[in-house]
Amino acid sequence: MLEPCSAEDSSFEADCIVADLLGCTNSALRLYSEKEIETATAEKAMDFAQRRLLHEPLQYILGKWEFYGREFYVGEGVLIPRPETELLIDSAISELKGKTQPVCYDLCSGSGCIGITVSKEIPDSRVFMLEKSEKAFGFLEKNVAHNGAANCKPVIGDIFEESPFEEKADIILSNPPYICSDVIPTLQPEVHKEPQMALDGGENGLVFYERIAKGWIKALKPDGIIAVEIGDEQGESVSALFRKSFSDVRVIKDFSGNDRVVVAKNIFNCRNWSI
Ligand code: GLN
Repeated sequence: MLEPCSAEDSSFEADCIVADLLGCTNSALRLYSEKEIETATAEKAMDFAQRRLLHEPLQYILGKWEFYGREFYVGEGVLIPRPETELLIDSAISELKGKTQPVCYDLCSGSGCIGITVSKEIPDSRVFMLEKSEKAFGFLEKNVAHNGAANCKPVIGDIFEESPFEEKADIILSNPPYICSDVIPTLQPEVHKEPQMALDGGENGLVFYERIAKGWIKALKPDGIIAVEIGDEQGESVSALFRKSFSDVRVIKDFSGNDRVVVAKNIFNCRNWSI
């Protein structure tokens, strides 16, 4: 039934809907008979399917989605966590290995999936999170509580203004809006249901990276690191931008072989510090 809006994943999406209504996992569905499934879910499942056919993202219909093995509330007004973003978490964990009580920033936090996950994976970290949209911030606060992320501090604010955080960062993480403004109208209808401000990276798609590279370097500790998610065609442009102020810049590819994360280290700054 969902084929018109989800050709490849229609049976997966249908399973997600039914499993959600039954309160079980997708794999546990095989334990139910067809009759049981039909009576328990018929009306509600049809309602969900109708919404899906109008291109509402599955994640908004379910109201939650998984990221790095944890559950995050999502809905209109907040970007849906994507599996590619898990690579940014892996990069942060590997960069912070051996540091005690690292301070981490998550800029443009959205649902909070990045900051919350890092705070759970590195339990002695302290994570400062910045989000501009009040709607997204509502989800962010709920997700901090839902995941028991006591070491996270969410703050409402704009990355184009001065840092509101009182401590300098060992690592700044961000998955900022990075789609070129003129590409946005060409995206699939589901993406249009997500907040434009979480997607639109300005005319060249680079506005947020420019701000982070120039404006946030001073919020880093001397040996601090910046790691950002990028669009699959932005490896060169974003690394060139970071090379202007950072000495060690690397592009990391995701599981599909696309450029996905840029890591920039502040080595010059570090040397100056130790002199
Ligand atoms: N940090 C959030 C995420 O990765 C939101 C990103 C954004 O709003 N661009 O899902």
